[in-house]
Amino acid sequence: MSSFTLKEVQLSPKYQSPLELAERMQHEQVLYFFDEETGLKGFIGIHNTILGPALGGCRVWNYTSLDSAMVDVLRLSRGMTFKSSISGIDLGGGKSVIIHGDASRRDEKFWRKFAEIVDELGGRYITAEDVGTSTKEIAWMMPVTRFVSGKPPEHGGGGDPSPFTAYGVFLGIKAATKKIYGSESLENKKVVVQGIGHVGFYLAKRLLEDGAKVFAADINQEVLQNAVRHLNITPIDPEEVYAFDADIYAPCALGATINPTTIPQFKFKIIAGAANNQLEDENRDALLLKERGITYAPDFLINAGGVINCFQEVIGYDEKQAWQKTEKIYSQTLHILQISEEENISTHEAAMKIALERIEKAKLIRKENVGQASH
Ligand code: NAD
Repeated sequence: MSSFTLKEVQLSPKYQSPLELAERMQHEQVLYFFDEETGLKGFIGIHNTILGPALGGCRVWNYTSLDSAMVDVLRLSRGMTFKSSISGIDLGGGKSVIIHGDASRRDEKFWRKFAEIVDELGGRYITAEDVGTSTKEIAWMMPVTRFVSGKPPEHGGGGDPSPFTAYGVFLGIKAATKKIYGSESLENKKVVVQGIGHVGFYLAKRLLEDGAKVFAADINQEVLQNAVRHLNITPIDPEEVYAFDADIYAPCALGATINPTTIPQFKFKIIAGAANNQLEDENRDALLLKERGITYAPDFLINAGGVINCFQEVIGYDEKQAWQKTEKIYSQTLHILQISEEENISTHEAAMKIALERIEKAKLIRKENVGQASH
């Protein structure tokens, strides 16, 4: 723990192997799991537990290789460390990924097996929902382990975290709008929502209520049509997203959509969305955006509503408090945008600075406590 230098650890797509990446990003623990009987296969990544147990959702995805699944768990769990830190909640960073396989085999037995694996970690990792998981799977895991969050409300939990995530992203968009346009009103602002799934749907609803014009793309036609049926959005082709003439781009699908190929196409003034790890290469792409005068609200700051709701569940669920804590994303976003301007650094760097400061402080306190205990 003494050589912990998170400051030097930047996320870049360049690495020799996933294990080397784990070492570079300073993960505390990475667990590969496989169960022949159920076909369960994947990884749990525990990046850092200085601030508390590592909490992060479980993603089920169609990974093409073990390497790509491991890289994803590494990137996602690391993101959770900084997300919880910047949100002021006492949680560390963790995440799990499950390799898609045969969907018909992902039954109750499958999820109970996964729960056993989570339970064996003794609370170092708490799982929750992510892409491909819902309260149904969480409910299946509950009899096996108490280290789950995002439990159904009928079981005393906070339920689907997506509405909270969407609310935080909405506030992040409003804060960035205030900074750029002088008013937080979204009246007639054109917003492109990429991915109109759980978070995208709730976000689009709030944007429309605030007077924005919402354009949405999704590779899943069923999901898109459902949104069109319920919301006054304009569907667009997924291929159209990056060059679309709009004020705001809200990535709510998957990560790495901000990169040297897409950035030159952007006409957006603001990028603010729910997807994790939107920047393919954090430093490079955050600077490219800054050079182009595009205001980027860091993903791990504004998409923290879900984890804030999960944390509330860990300490005793109180819905009102979860909304109130999520509300702070507005002022925190303004604060980060201000630091970025004053110090002439990217918004991503400004957010990392704040997140790292809290972790470094906690580390010092822990060191002092250990020192005192040994005297
Ligand atoms: P979801 O699976 O419900 O929705 C994602 C949608 O994006 C899907 O409908 C999918 O078809 C679509 N999509 C995938 N690739 C696309 C592409 N190239 N173009 C257009 N659409 C595409 O997931 P979600 O829970 O809404 O989460 C969305 C993102 O936000 C994910 O990156 C997730 O990790 C992140 N996030 C979610 C939460 C949460 O509370 N759910 C919290 C923090 C971060």
